[in-house]
Amino acid sequence: MHMIQKSLLRKSINVISICRTGATRSLYSNVPDTSTTVRVRFAPSPTGFMHLGGLRTALFNYLFAKSHGGKFILRIEDTDQERLVEGATEQIYQDLKWAGIVPDESPWNEGPYGPYVQSLRYDIYKQEVKKLMEDGRAYYCFCSERRLDLLRKDAVRLRQVPKYDNKCRHLTPGQIAERLAKNDKFCIRFKLDSKADEFQDLIYGKIVYFVAQNEGDPVIIKSDGFPTYHFANVVDDHHMKISHVLRGVEWQISTPKHIQMFQAFGWRPPQYAHLPLVMNSNGSKLSKRQGDVQLEHYRSIGIFPQALLNFITQSGGGFDRELIDITGPQLKDLVDNFDIKKINAHSSRLNPDLLWQCNREEIAHQLKHSPEKADGLVKEVIRMVREEYKDHLKSLDLDEKHVREVLEWSITRIGSLQDLVKGKLSFLWVLPQRSKDAIIDADILKVLAKNFATETDVPFTKAYISDFLKAFAKRNQIAFDQFMKSLRGSLSGLREGPGVAEMMEILGREKTVERILLAAKRK
Ligand code: GLU
Repeated sequence: MHMIQKSLLRKSINVISICRTGATRSLYSNVPDTSTTVRVRFAPSPTGFMHLGGLRTALFNYLFAKSHGGKFILRIEDTDQERLVEGATEQIYQDLKWAGIVPDESPWNEGPYGPYVQSLRYDIYKQEVKKLMEDGRAYYCFCSERRLDLLRKDAVRLRQVPKYDNKCRHLTPGQIAERLAKNDKFCIRFKLDSKADEFQDLIYGKIVYFVAQNEGDPVIIKSDGFPTYHFANVVDDHHMKISHVLRGVEWQISTPKHIQMFQAFGWRPPQYAHLPLVMNSNGSKLSKRQGDVQLEHYRSIGIFPQALLNFITQSGGGFDRELIDITGPQLKDLVDNFDIKKINAHSSRLNPDLLWQCNREEIAHQLKHSPEKADGLVKEVIRMVREEYKDHLKSLDLDEKHVREVLEWSITRIGSLQDLVKGKLSFLWVLPQRSKDAIIDADILKVLAKNFATETDVPFTKAYISDFLKAFAKRNQIAFDQFMKSLRGSLSGLREGPGVAEMMEILGREKTVERILLAAKRK
């Protein structure tokens, strides 16, 4: 980003006269202009699967659109056919749907400005490039790969930034006609203006960049006739009436070039907001190739979509402070509290500890506020338990009411539904393995079981059980610690987990008695 000089250059900007027509005024404003319909787009290239960075870009676009009554569009940018990953386009759409950020217009639900896949829009690019050629803002370039390579090597040797020297700008009409007649290979380049480019980034503030000083005229139509990303992106943003572009900061350096293209066409550019990077907790970059940042990974470990959205909005700003006070925010809360001006202009780090907390809060929210989702959770737990304990199907207590109670009880202890089925909480579903800690005399265990079985007039609550166990240990002169250790082993076969009285409460009187008796018998 060193080449971008920010607002410190104010002095030099003031002396450069820039034609600020009414049509482009919004480019110089640091507040979002929402006077016309807000239309934003998420424009991924299907060169890989969606990861958290992409999800955040999509989410912020969605939130911006919805908080201004606008439209959120999905456009697939597949002009780089060589890097396409099979299945990625479909997966991106499925991922968005899974996350609940469903596009208003996309290749799957076309709106008025389709097609929404760039490879189906080649005719549009062809027509548009003609206009630039006619106006002298684009030109044929016949430079061979070899020449370009030599230019690059020369620049490297001289320790300069490699850039095209714009040689073909100066070809005469006769020379061009001759080369075309010879069927020479060509590409089309956009003629950069050597003025200072400035725009107000809605997140970073004033950006000043001298594109033409730093790069040669960019290719807009490649020698195979296909458009480059830069050209297709600009043409589509115009044709699709995009009002605001919210995209990753890695594109900020290309924005002045895009604005120049808009201006060359006489089109009104959108307002731009570049989103700072989201990084791993150790400060490294998220990468499409890093398996554990892809959405599929989070799905497979039982993270709920809303929890994932909440997780990625925990750092980097973008919301009113009150959001922090909402437990388990929902998409509507994110929309209501979104404020583009509050996005931090520096990169943020994901805090992995918050992932499970967000998931836990989401499970709790579903249980408490959505009967339909709560029902779904119960059914899912039943399915998972059946699958996990295939060999114990007969003894499993999978009554829906019971499972729901278990779920409600477990909520502070689990990060995902998987945690409820496996590991420390497996005792909830199946009888424990024989425990090494069952050191209390079998007769004492039998007495305890009998007491529990007969005192049915008192509800079998944690508080009652706890008092009872203390009194029982005292009466029978048993060391309390040993007693608890032994009971824990009898109930769960484990050395750690929830408190003994709590375990008993959630297992219920019947199962508790059953397990204590089983432990007595095993002695
Ligand atoms: N196709 C670009 C990408 O994959 C989109 C850049 C933009 O939003 O303009 O990130």
